[in-house]
Amino acid sequence: MATLQLDNIVKDFGDTQVIKGIDLEVKDREFVVFVGPSGCGKSTLMRMIAGLESTTRGDISIDGVRINDVGPADRGLAMVFQSYALYPHMSVEDNMGFSLRLAKVKKAERREKVLAAARILQLENLLDRKPRALSGGQRQRVAIGRAIVRNPSIFLFDEPLSNLDAALRVQMRIELARLHDELDATMIYVTHDQIEAMTMADKIVVLQGGVVEQIGSPMELYHHPRNRFVAGFIGSPK
Ligand code: ADP
Ligand code: MG
Repeated sequence: MATLQLDNIVKDFGDTQVIKGIDLEVKDREFVVFVGPSGCGKSTLMRMIAGLESTTRGDISIDGVRINDVGPADRGLAMVFQSYALYPHMSVEDNMGFSLRLAKVKKAERREKVLAAARILQLENLLDRKPRALSGGQRQRVAIGRAIVRNPSIFLFDEPLSNLDAALRVQMRIELARLHDELDATMIYVTHDQIEAMTMADKIVVLQGGVVEQIGSPMELYHHPRNRFVAGFIGSPK
């Protein structure tokens, strides 16, 4: 079980307020997509949820427990970024198992977890390869594999597909949807791609200038955008 609650979250960088009081509930196993223009605070919000950025005000809770003061490694979350830097000198297997090694998980158990993730991501035959011998899509799957091995209750994806070409993005979208079903995990996904948002989300959160403009299912936002901005962003005819 993993429900995420944000209560009046604020983030200041110096004199600039970039997140201006965000309330949000992400239910267990929900696939929630954050959309909004560049600079609206999507990555900052994700980094705050992940614990990589402090919270100026407000509470972040998982299953009702406030986690503001819990370190990133202990929040039960895993984040996949746009720039999925893999360690070039390590094999796929070692890249995927690296965080487990840091956590002092024994070799046999590490291998078991990496193999299970590799199976889900269809990377079983590539475990000995170095990243340079992989395609863009395969590398991105390794990055997702690094997250899966930690068995997180919540996955955070920050524009994970934006470096991939269009055809690969379509394929990865399908794979991520399958992953969501298979892992029964809660997923929060940032994109500025309308189609990604409309096809993948249970719930879309439209952000602008550090505030939530509207929250709803893709169909709710499409048919009942609250304003012109939301309509434009969702591609609604209104
Ligand atoms: P998005 O991911 O939606 O494009 P970001 O969350 O990266 O937006 O950025 C939101 C705003 O916060 C931007 O104006 C950005 O310049 C600013 N910002 C992000 N990180 C920092 C930082 N570490 N210090 C100062 N300003 C920052
Ligand atoms: Mg960003």
